[in-house]
Amino acid sequence: MDLEYYEVLEITRTADAAEIKKAYRKLALQYHPDRNQGDKEAEEKFKAINEAYQVLSDEQKRATYDRYGKQGLDSQGFSHFSDMRYEDIMGDLGSIFESVFGGGFSSGGFGGGGSKQNRKYNLDLEAEVTLAFNEAIFGTKKEVSFSYKKPCDACDGTGSKDKSKATCKECKGKGQVFYRQGFMTFSQTCPECNGKGSVVKNPCPSCNAKGFSQVDDKVIIDIPEGIDNNNRIRVAGRGNIDERGTRGDLYILVHVKEDEHFVRHNDDIYIEVPVFFTQVALGETIKIPTIRGETELELPLGAKDKQQFIFKKEGVKNVHTHQLGSMIAQISIRYPKKITKEQKELLEKLQAEFGIETKHKDEKFESVFDKIKSWFD
Ligand SMILES: [Zn+2]
Ligand SMILES: [Zn+2]
Repeated sequence: MDLEYYEVLEITRTADAAEIKKAYRKLALQYHPDRNQGDKEAEEKFKAINEAYQVLSDEQKRATYDRYGKQGLDSQGFSHFSDMRYEDIMGDLGSIFESVFGGGFSSGGFGGGGSKQNRKYNLDLEAEVTLAFNEAIFGTKKEVSFSYKKPCDACDGTGSKDKSKATCKECKGKGQVFYRQGFMTFSQTCPECNGKGSVVKNPCPSCNAKGFSQVDDKVIIDIPEGIDNNNRIRVAGRGNIDERGTRGDLYILVHVKEDEHFVRHNDDIYIEVPVFFTQVALGETIKIPTIRGETELELPLGAKDKQQFIFKKEGVKNVHTHQLGSMIAQISIRYPKKITKEQKELLEKLQAEFGIETKHKDEKFESVFDKIKSWFD
């Protein structure tokens, strides 16, 4: 790998610090070994990117390189990544990665863990609240109980009685250990210190060496009108507290109970309306409930079972746009399961009135019956 550093990072010779960082970020993510397991070419490329960045992000090294090239650096004792052992590179990268990507990434692993470096717990916290169907639709105030973590007062969060920690021997304080399998190097959280990089000597009795305590708390939150099941409400600055006093946020996951009549789908409300067949036949207008009161459904003559009728703006107010959804009324036509002698007579009379005679076979099917018979002759 003897490409020019600028070429490797795909930037011009006049690129400034921000451009260099941006280019490195993009390429390092693209060629990171975690994403290219077993790909030798990606590994080489990754090394080259890191070497280039280590030089170009350092003003002095960059100036030397600009004037004297790689030989100039060599004469100053700079070691090329391409000549280094993979483990050493990954070990060294910790600080580079932290400065470029922030605490969220470690050199050893992308994704999954998040910002757990030297932190015993995530700062953001989740709690849950259950709302009645109408509380979610119209909004309300709710008291939510939760419990957050804070550094143990007795040991200042160290987990150690005398507040001392020893560097973990297994990972030499890096929190990660590297191991080889064939030609590939893998990294994992140090099993000895669980990634903390340090071990507790004299365990603190009040927190069992955990270094933190759990505090019960309550918060009253405004539930906005239109919130839906599985939405999250963020309460800033009510999460866990770390040793430096930084506090995360509390996220409240909303569960909404179902209603026995209304079914909510996003901002729309569905309701099933049972109607008797005579009501459909007569085209009656019936009163139906809405989430805010009532409205009228005019049954058109010839309405079919499961036919839907849309009532605009009778739905839920969208929690973000404040636009009202619709109510969809679906009719379910009911027929009598039993009829009295008198009812039967009335219906027969009605049927005759429509010119339909009572008989077992309809003439229009005669030809069909004949056809079916012929199939089996
Ligand atoms: Zn360790
Ligand atoms: Zn303690």
